[in-house]
Amino acid sequence: MKVIRSICILLTACLIIFFSQCSCAGENKSVLFQVSTLNALFEGIYDGEITFQELAHYGDFGIGTFNALDGEMVVLDGNFYQVRVDGEVLPVDPFTKTPFAMVTFFYPDAIIPFDEPADYDRLLFYLDTLLPTENIFYAIKVKGTFSFLKARSVPRQKRPYPPLVQAIAEQSIFEFNNVQGTMVGFFCPVYIQGLNMAGYHFHFISEDTMMGGHVLDCQIDSVHIEISFIHELSLILPKTEDFYRVNLVQDNEKELEKVER
Ligand code: ZN
Repeated sequence: MKVIRSICILLTACLIIFFSQCSCAGENKSVLFQVSTLNALFEGIYDGEITFQELAHYGDFGIGTFNALDGEMVVLDGNFYQVRVDGEVLPVDPFTKTPFAMVTFFYPDAIIPFDEPADYDRLLFYLDTLLPTENIFYAIKVKGTFSFLKARSVPRQKRPYPPLVQAIAEQSIFEFNNVQGTMVGFFCPVYIQGLNMAGYHFHFISEDTMMGGHVLDCQIDSVHIEISFIHELSLILPKTEDFYRVNLVQDNEKELEKVER
């Protein structure tokens, strides 16, 4: 048993090295395309100008939200989903707009099976061991069976928009048991703080596309992990008066942690 396990670990390591060398050779040209900044969202800038139809030109995989903070957004395999505050999952209207989103075209550099039961912290710790550096971005897909998954969505806001901490106070929390699906997310380096949140950020969509949301916690049964290494960031900033006037100087790091976990 021990020998088989060692062989598996060795094979996984070889796969990662093989894929990462391919990526260094320039085969993977993944770009992270980001709309606005997380600290702007934090300050209540909930209206953007980019439609989902436009966003689809920049990626087939990603996360985000909607104008007026109308739920959690998940993109998987080019399909855009809206997880509303009542838990209903709808296909995204291509003409609606987003105030904050992160998308990329997903090309895996590493594919790793992870068959042992694990909680969310253990999964994140395991992901840490798979990333060759903390200084680049990664798109991460975790697909399989989850014995438990806790997700949330947020209610549509009305002007004047409250800050994100206040809006999140009205969030709905959903708990799913024995569900098949995919966690769709990103890892951002520490130096990006303000533009985005350092570390991992995952949304979830079930296999039957009936359940989803921003992941708060999970218990994995058996999954496989795909990681795309990203060396390029493209950022588009809102042209709105709200964005021009908002004060983005303050440090929201502690509050951001509260909002995301
Ligand atoms: Zn989220």
